[in-house]
Amino acid sequence: MQQNKSNPKRRKRRSPYLFMLLCALLIICIIIFGLRAMNGWEAYEKEAAVTPVPTPTVRPVQVTPDVSLVTNTPAPTVTPSYLANGSEGEMVVQLQQRLQQLGYYTGALDGQYGSGTQSAVRIFQQQHGLDADGVAGQQTMIVLYSADAQYIVITPTPQPYAVAAEEVPILVNAQNKLPDDYVPADLVQVKAVCGDNMLYASNDVQGVWEAVVALDEMITAAKADGIGPWKVREGYRTLKYQQQIFDNYVNRFMENNGMSRSQAVSATKQTVADPGCSEHHTGLAFDLNANNPDVAFVDTAQYVWLNKHCWEYGFIMRYTDEKQDITSILGEEWHVRYVGKEHSIRMRDSNMCLEEYVAWLNAQ
Ligand SMILES: [Zn+2]
Repeated sequence: MQQNKSNPKRRKRRSPYLFMLLCALLIICIIIFGLRAMNGWEAYEKEAAVTPVPTPTVRPVQVTPDVSLVTNTPAPTVTPSYLANGSEGEMVVQLQQRLQQLGYYTGALDGQYGSGTQSAVRIFQQQHGLDADGVAGQQTMIVLYSADAQYIVITPTPQPYAVAAEEVPILVNAQNKLPDDYVPADLVQVKAVCGDNMLYASNDVQGVWEAVVALDEMITAAKADGIGPWKVREGYRTLKYQQQIFDNYVNRFMENNGMSRSQAVSATKQTVADPGCSEHHTGLAFDLNANNPDVAFVDTAQYVWLNKHCWEYGFIMRYTDEKQDITSILGEEWHVRYVGKEHSIRMRDSNMCLEEYVAWLNAQ
């Protein structure tokens, strides 16, 4: 009985302790969860202040390479994203080969991305509606190696000229000699651009790309007017070649006219520029004729057309009888020089030769 009585008593005594213990535990739990929740909120607030709420965007699917497949295979070669003037190596060789296959490149497969490769790329780009910057970038490469890549079309659509209005045209004469190592950028074979549009004294006649494209446009217009044929006799000349021409003239004057060397040199200087002083060294000058050895060029319809219209295509009649005192070169009606339309039109309208015009521009 005592036990029976004592049991409920003990229960009654225990229950307040148990209740207090449970309450304490509950309070501890509330405090812990409360603190956690507050920390989490603070952290969220902190984060939200720093990180902008992302807006949903369409993201490209990121492909993670399968490591098991890469194991034991050599690491892929890191390829440059583009090839440009100055690039070199095996990839340039491959590019040159491909351009050669398609008829755009005629130079050596030397892996050097120089002016020849650049011109070839540019003509390719031009003929495939790409941005003609002469840089073999991703877009150019895709087209070049695709089934859409076409064999060179001999007459490309002319591109707008890049000669800026502010740029002073190069002046080359006896007082303004080019450096001995001067090689113009973007040299291209005239035939590669003008094709059947013209006749050539040699397949190797070259010029600066921009000038050759302008030449092609000009000859196309002349022929549309019923004026032709046209032959390009001279374009870019190296210093060495100019020296040969000069020496040949001197020798001829000495042998045929009985002149002393100094006499022959002065006579030569009347018609042939000193090496380094020739406009042909710029790659911007061309000697044209009508492919008719029986008639002087000045008496041909080609000359009449050229004298009237060359200005509209960025060319000037560089040496005229009228300006001989200033240019110090006898009239050469066959010699045209590319300066760009902005300049050629202004020179025509002001009747200034290049010496006068450059002096005038520099005085502005
Ligand atoms: Zn000339």
